[in-house]
Amino acid sequence: MRIVFLGAPGSGKGTQAKLVSQRLSVPAVSTGDMLRVAVRAGTPFGMKARAVMAQGELVPDDLMISLIKEHIAAADAHDRKGFVLDGYPRTIPQAESLEKLLAEDGAAVDAVVNFDVPDPVLIERLSGRADVERRADDRPETVRERLRVYHEKTEPLVNYYRGKGLLVSVDGVGEIAEVAKRIERGLLAKTHQGAA
Ligand code: AMP
Repeated sequence: MRIVFLGAPGSGKGTQAKLVSQRLSVPAVSTGDMLRVAVRAGTPFGMKARAVMAQGELVPDDLMISLIKEHIAAADAHDRKGFVLDGYPRTIPQAESLEKLLAEDGAAVDAVVNFDVPDPVLIERLSGRADVERRADDRPETVRERLRVYHEKTEPLVNYYRGKGLLVSVDGVGEIAEVAKRIERGLLAKTHQGAA
């Protein structure tokens, strides 16, 4: 299965993407994690990404598209069982490019899990995470900007994927295990529907 996890910062998509990838034994591909590795390595790409991330903005599409091309090829080359994409696509051009990339191999996205979490809950979670995980971009000013960017650039993907019949909407408020069950049920329903 090739699954995309869509959601605002703090929606829990990273945690849940890792759980689903373990359950399905497929790689979890997180663009945020890849970028943080590049930042730590201090590569020219990492330096550029660091400035953008610290502002709460998105890394430009052309850079993200080349980054994901390498990683999807590597993840899919493995045994072609699929992958879970966490944090990509985040814009319509990224989604279109992903579709083209997969189509070259006769593949496609099978399902898109979207997390419904109200903004006040996101803000509360992210400010808690700023203390625990110490992510530079979890500072209050940056959090507000990341949410604004999410609504402007990423949220349109919800309708984009709904239109393609791929959307699995999940209530993202609750315990991790509870949300994981909702995702499992949603994905099962979607794949049965696809098979029917
Ligand atoms: P995340 O860990 O998914 O919250 O990502 C952290 C930061 O990395 C985001 O706020 C963006 O600045 C950047 N980032 C991650 N994925 C993407 C993407 N697909 N497109 C653009 N920027 C991204």
